[in-house]
Amino acid sequence: MSDERTLAEGMVEKIGEETGALTHETHMNGEKTPFVEKRPFRDHREGLMRIGELLGGPETAVIGDTSDIGAVGHRVVHGGEAFHEPTIIDDRVLEAIRDNIELAPLHNPPNLLGIEVAKSIFPDAVQVAVFDTAFHQTLPMPAFLYAIPYELYEKHRVRRYGFHGTSHAYVCERASAYLETSLEGLRLITLHLGNGASMAAVKDGKCIDTTMGMTPLGGLVMGTRSGDVDPALPFFLADHLDMSLGDIDRVLNRESGLKGLCGSNDMREVIRMAQSGHDRARIALDVYIYRIRKFIGAYAAALEGLDAMVFTAGIGENAPTIRWRACEGLGHLGIALDRARNTVPGKGISEISAEGSRVRVLVVPTDEELRIAQETKRVIEK
Ligand code: AMP
Repeated sequence: MSDERTLAEGMVEKIGEETGALTHETHMNGEKTPFVEKRPFRDHREGLMRIGELLGGPETAVIGDTSDIGAVGHRVVHGGEAFHEPTIIDDRVLEAIRDNIELAPLHNPPNLLGIEVAKSIFPDAVQVAVFDTAFHQTLPMPAFLYAIPYELYEKHRVRRYGFHGTSHAYVCERASAYLETSLEGLRLITLHLGNGASMAAVKDGKCIDTTMGMTPLGGLVMGTRSGDVDPALPFFLADHLDMSLGDIDRVLNRESGLKGLCGSNDMREVIRMAQSGHDRARIALDVYIYRIRKFIGAYAAALEGLDAMVFTAGIGENAPTIRWRACEGLGHLGIALDRARNTVPGKGISEISAEGSRVRVLVVPTDEELRIAQETKRVIEK
């Protein structure tokens, strides 16, 4: 952590499927050496155990042995209202994460398993949870409360939580450093546009609104997720198409968004299709862009003005046409992009707003792993 250099990176994909794959790339002496293992990984435990083995060698080693690891930072998806910041994991914290399973049934159980396995692989390391929801815990009540019976909030914690907090927080800090302006007094909109996508309105470094809701299904149009729809849509699908709750969940989470509209959830492909005259791809892009623009307007109102905007994640960092269309015609809000800067942004952080644009618009590459590592270090040094 002294120079924040990545020693190794990797992932295990398609856990539980026949076509599982592990990639592990070491970065030693200025050289990146990939290692790939294609085989099924039965569960998260098997995947993480294998990562632990690879970190120690023999050909893939970046540490002497597992006791070299001082701390493990875990991205925990749902911290509910219990966690406002990264936290050292003890029994009380484990219990609270367990308590939030009903809010994130797909994510918190594997997170818990990850913690348990990491404890057995790195018994001497401090385990730290960095919550995807924590950055949004500063939302004021009018922004987080749904207008449904109040008891549902009180007794069942139904409310907006927001996600991608690690990324939004990271790019805010990077933007403030780049602009040489304190977060205090700064009104920012951050746009995390990846396969999952969300926006956040940030004032004085505190998040005051965000597009995702109680779950990561709400808000923007995403790769396969619908984002906001009329809450009565599930009744219609059940009544008229005889869909079960499971069917509706699948449709809205996995078969909607860009994929639902035009057949592909890969933005590169959607843009290519639209350019070659594919009608539905064009429509999908129109819907995608319109939703973003609507939230820019909403957040400019919520923030009572706007000083800067930040694009990040796969699409935000790499798709000039999406950034251009999201900002086009918003001169009345003080937003003007420079076409050339937007088309070929520099490496690292780059400014894409036009000379004289009242709102400064940046592209900031996100790095959630680095942020988790920084937060982990910060917590254990406290
Ligand atoms: P992420 O979830 O942050 O990895 O982002 C994934 C999304 O970024 C996918 O929809 C990709 O198609 C999209 N993406 C990555 N590179 C590009 C690019 N050069 N142009 C447009 N979209 C891209």
